[in-house]
Amino acid sequence: MIAVAIDGPAGAGKSTIAKKVSAELGFIYVDTGAIYRAVGLACIKKGIDEGDSKAVNKLLKDIDIRIIFFNGEQHILLNDEDISGEIRTETVSMAASTVSAIPEVREFLLDLQRNFAKADNVIMDGRDIGTVVLPNAQVKIFLTASPEVRAKRRVAQLAEKGESADYDTVLEDIVKRDYNDSHREIAPLKPADSAFIVDTSEITLEESVRKIADIIKENME
Ligand code: C5P
Repeated sequence: MIAVAIDGPAGAGKSTIAKKVSAELGFIYVDTGAIYRAVGLACIKKGIDEGDSKAVNKLLKDIDIRIIFFNGEQHILLNDEDISGEIRTETVSMAASTVSAIPEVREFLLDLQRNFAKADNVIMDGRDIGTVVLPNAQVKIFLTASPEVRAKRRVAQLAEKGESADYDTVLEDIVKRDYNDSHREIAPLKPADSAFIVDTSEITLEESVRKIADIIKENME
């Protein structure tokens, strides 16, 4: 089996790029942020403070999170309910970032992620795929871009969906999430030792896709 780990901060283009590259290579694409979002959403639904680790740990006993593929698209089930659409909000992003610092949450989601790499060739994206989840991945990539470029892309992405967003607020959220993700004690966001670092600030989506696909093809043996 071949495993490709793509890590990096929010909005660097991981999922868009990984989706295109995995379609080209015939690999399964797993977006691991979605399962942290599922835990964040479960807290919101139950009215639990995402920073209250005791309450969150208790909640973990009552929830079942599954990743399924439907027409090649990843869907997330929370206690059998498809919540794939509901998890894509800024509120859920922040909730996911908060719960992701709780060690038991990370432990709870570990096998779910690892099992995919046992069964198929995968491209998995997240924050700690190359460092913790799949330390033996054949190819590790750390994808990044400046916070300003990432905020601009996020605002454009939301506008495409017909949602308006304030650039300064989005930028503030990105900076806060970067800080949380890279300063937590467990599995902080950082490049794996052997990761290829790709900065997409100055290159187009098409150029990023080519670059990543080439890195994978050249290094997957
Ligand atoms: O990738 P996405 O923005 O959907 O992830 C949401 C949040 O989930 C991140 O800000 C991060 O805190 C957390 N996460 C994580 N480890 C991963 C994937 C996501 O801690 N492998």
